[in-house]
Amino acid sequence: MEKIKAVQIESPDKLRIIEMNKPKIDSCNNVLVKIKAAGICGSDVGIYKGTNAAATYPRVIGHEMVGEVVETDGKTEKIKVGDRVIIDQVTSCGTCYACRHGRPNVCQNLQVRGVHIDGGYREYMAVPEEDCYILPEKLRYEDAVLIEPTTIAVQACSRAELKEEDELLIIGCGALGSRMLSIARLYGCKIIVADVVDEKLEDARKNGADFTINLLKENIEEKCKEYTTEAYGPTVTIDCACTKDSLGTAIKVTGNAGRVITMGFSVAPTEVTNFGITSKELDIRGSRLQNRKFQEVIDLVDEGKIDLNNKISHTFKFTDAQAAFDFNDTHDPSIRKIVLTMDE
Ligand code: MN
Repeated sequence: MEKIKAVQIESPDKLRIIEMNKPKIDSCNNVLVKIKAAGICGSDVGIYKGTNAAATYPRVIGHEMVGEVVETDGKTEKIKVGDRVIIDQVTSCGTCYACRHGRPNVCQNLQVRGVHIDGGYREYMAVPEEDCYILPEKLRYEDAVLIEPTTIAVQACSRAELKEEDELLIIGCGALGSRMLSIARLYGCKIIVADVVDEKLEDARKNGADFTINLLKENIEEKCKEYTTEAYGPTVTIDCACTKDSLGTAIKVTGNAGRVITMGFSVAPTEVTNFGITSKELDIRGSRLQNRKFQEVIDLVDEGKIDLNNKISHTFKFTDAQAAFDFNDTHDPSIRKIVLTMDE
């Protein structure tokens, strides 16, 4: 049996490079992809550190994966050998309540590549044709990795039912928050971005934020009033910081009849009151993964509406994943997005 290399989290804090059988195509997983690059996401870090409640071990992690199709079963319609593709991380049962209501991203039997089943930090993957999307021609593999976090942003804005008249607060402007900004600005609404790092806030202003708030130096409640029409507060708050306290902050600052979108996976208790939600009749909505949003993002890239070039800050060979995760841990301010590459 031919072997390939992979990055496996054996158990929390134990990363190793393993050899595993090279995947083979079958009637279900009918496309073989040679993986070229895969991003490191906050959730990968969470699985590595044992803080992702959804993960099971041992696990080959990575869910932001792109590569080249090297084999098919000959029956594919959309995908052919030689295509450059990104792989959808969501696999679902198709029959549960969520699936029947068009929401496979929260399938009762959800199996996410890189979380519940093996993911993209390896040399080859066999996947169904319908989970492959053809990459924009001009995008390098390393940059194309960012299509996935952008789909997460598209999902959150769709869950928020964002409209031009909204006044949006994005809490957190890391890899996810900056993707959120790039999608939210397409709606033409007012955007306020909050973070703790001045450099990230400066980036946010350059990339379309109307106002920014440094959470360490400024009072977010006061600033949200100052920056919104008639001191109403944001009509939509999307929490891209996903810390224990960011939900409470979002509920506090969002205006009456507003929407709060949560994206975090923290299981730490946090203080939220009935009054905080009921008195303003807030909608608190979770946004998880994405619901078949890849083509939408690829179209936005092709139409020139979003630019995914020059966003990644560091690349490491995937066999140096330990060094990449260690470096990520330093929280060096230069880190925007780290990508692992699989080419020799
Ligand atoms: Mn991700």
